[in-house]
Amino acid sequence: MIPHHRTKIVGTLGPAMDDPRVLRECILAGLDIARLNAAHGTGEEQIRRVRALRKTARDLNRPVGLLVDLPGPKFRLGNLPGGQRELRPGEIIRLGSPADIDSKGLPVRDAGILASMERGHFLYLADGTVTLIIVGLGGSIVKGRVVIGGVVRSGSGINIPDTDVRIRIPTPSDLRGIAFAARQKAEWIGISFVRTVKDISGVRRAFSRFRHNPRIIAKIEKPQALANLGDLLQEADGLMVARGDLGVETPLAQVPLAQKRIIAEANEAGKPVITATQMLESMVNHRWPTRAEVADVANAVLDGTDAVMLSAETAIGKYPAEAIRILASVLTATEAAYPFHAFLNAPTQKPVSLPGNAISRSACRLAWDAGAKAIIISSHSEALPYSVSRFRPSVPIIVLTGNRMITRQLALSWGVETVLTDPGASESLEPARGWLLKNRLARSGDSVVWIHPTDRRKDSSGNSIRLAAI
Ligand code: PGA
Ligand code: MN
Repeated sequence: MIPHHRTKIVGTLGPAMDDPRVLRECILAGLDIARLNAAHGTGEEQIRRVRALRKTARDLNRPVGLLVDLPGPKFRLGNLPGGQRELRPGEIIRLGSPADIDSKGLPVRDAGILASMERGHFLYLADGTVTLIIVGLGGSIVKGRVVIGGVVRSGSGINIPDTDVRIRIPTPSDLRGIAFAARQKAEWIGISFVRTVKDISGVRRAFSRFRHNPRIIAKIEKPQALANLGDLLQEADGLMVARGDLGVETPLAQVPLAQKRIIAEANEAGKPVITATQMLESMVNHRWPTRAEVADVANAVLDGTDAVMLSAETAIGKYPAEAIRILASVLTATEAAYPFHAFLNAPTQKPVSLPGNAISRSACRLAWDAGAKAIIISSHSEALPYSVSRFRPSVPIIVLTGNRMITRQLALSWGVETVLTDPGASESLEPARGWLLKNRLARSGDSVVWIHPTDRRKDSSGNSIRLAAI
């Protein structure tokens, strides 16, 4: 059985999914990509999670991809006496490294960042719920006045969007995440707090030392990333609308339009995009989501997202499998009114430019006009499935490949299903025929559109499109 929705589901691994039965249920409910947050360690516990994921996915014969998120320059408070502290409006507080700060101040783990701050910069704590303005500087110690008070905890996140932090990505903790992700052969890597293309190329270079070449997602959660979106899209293999930090680093009210813009540009570039954070947040503690959450998921689908993501809902929530099931049902219900034609017929800024896009759009048009039941790709071009997915055909996109890693990479792409073939057998329609019949998506004699290679070049140029009967 395959899930009856085209939009993909990303779920974050954590203690709530550690029970093997729960993990199994989550995969059966439609988990396509499992995310592991390297910020929460790369030790034994996380290795065990990856092992369990790989094994369960193999047992269930589902190509579930692994996305390892690198923390990037994410800053946190150190340990607070008693674990937490209330900050009152008007209070003046010193912030610095744990060694320089007495019990009245706030310890900061990577206090080096404070040196780049200036008077008048804002500093946000605890997901933006607490706001300080910097009123005094003294080397590695700064003084802040509390503008909006609240409770902060040991390890609370710090956001300083006004400050140009000259910290290079990959950071030392990113490098630990990279070594981990390379060992675990992660199909996708997320880079947090990306600012420029250099951040992405730096991570790619670090991976090349491990001879592992994952696909890279730039998490859009900084104003600089929004400003550089076009360039980032050239360099990255996909994007994440990281609404959690984006809603702290830029005005919260602007997040919905930023989401639409990020998705539209990723669609245009033919690269997958994930919409993330608080999609079913209330399900961390409750069996049912709010109406507003369900509407948010539906709207992300209609915006054109490739995938929707759960964070705390699956990592630490009480109802991880239920959350995935509900997400899947909202995706299915919403796709009944999917604007397929808007994607297929969208005027593109440049003439569809790449040969792969011309082939892809023609294949999608042909599938529509001929009433074909599927678009089948058996090409040597790795880019072609992404490019077909971009035009959002109403029929399944079936990619035949002998490469397991590719099946797990494509688990993120809208509408793409993969069928693993014996090496060499990808040039026959037979595996796709078997898959379509088994899943009752077509009957013998139905027509399909087949994109297949006319030569062995890795780019998209040597392909032909054929209308075939299965
Ligand atoms: P995070 O990223 O959960 O790793 O912080 C997503 C976001 O910020 O929305
Ligand atoms: Mn984030």
